[in-house]
Amino acid sequence: MIVLDRLTKRFGATTAVDQLSLTVPTGSICALVGPSGCGKSTTLRLINRLIEPDGGRVLIDGTDTASLPPVALRRRIGYVIQSIGLFPHWSIARNISTVPELLGWPEARIDARVDELLGLVGLDPALFRNRRPHELSGGQQQRVGVARALAADPDLLLMDEPFGALDPVTRDGLQAALIDIQARTGKTVVIVTHDIDEAIRLASLIAVLDKGRLIQQGAPRDLLSRP
Ligand code: ADP
Ligand code: ADP
Repeated sequence: MIVLDRLTKRFGATTAVDQLSLTVPTGSICALVGPSGCGKSTTLRLINRLIEPDGGRVLIDGTDTASLPPVALRRRIGYVIQSIGLFPHWSIARNISTVPELLGWPEARIDARVDELLGLVGLDPALFRNRRPHELSGGQQQRVGVARALAADPDLLLMDEPFGALDPVTRDGLQAALIDIQARTGKTVVIVTHDIDEAIRLASLIAVLDKGRLIQQGAPRDLLSRP
């Protein structure tokens, strides 16, 4: 279970995230939605402590993320962003295994895990493990981004507009892959999107932000049936 407890972040005069409290049950997909600038990305960055809050806490299964050393944090939280951020000079396999390498996994375990992850995201390991990122389409690179985030079997997967830059067909394919992966691994997922249809398709819990505050939350059908 992920608990955001009165999370607050200010940038100068702007309160980007304002006393945000939200509970995401284990194994569910939560979509953060709302207009541009409402604090969605900042919330994800607070959860994985790329930035520090001015107030409030983030708990993962009861552990305050403030108490986790950086490597433990990276093990427990996978992060996928729109621009993917693969290292261009590294093979796909090496890109995927950054966190396992940080954790000092033996080479054989890393190799086996890379193949397993490529299969999970629908890429043939024999074809893809030794390629460079530029040899992949945008959708394939985004699949590698998901594989990398899942590498060390995190408790929580954070996704910031992961499908935003993709054409509709590729996006549909990747959304279906995410639903399948989530069903098979039982991961807790928090996904940021400005696309309400995407939120409805993917999420069991939708949290609506406005000016950094949580203004509504519920199952898609509950939110839609409101006047
Ligand atoms: P969203 O993801 O919903 O579009 P953000 O979380 O990116 O919104 O931004 C929320 C608010 O915080 C916006 O007003 C934005 O301009 C501001 N903000 C975000 N990051 C920074 C930063 N590093 N420095 C200054 N202001 C920021
Ligand atoms: P899209 O336009 O659909 O995003 P691309 O045209 O970039 O995809 O690529 C189409 C196919 O060609 C993909 O399967 C991709 O893996 C492969 N491909 C693209 N560039 C290279 C390359 N430099 N070397 C090997 N395969 C490539």
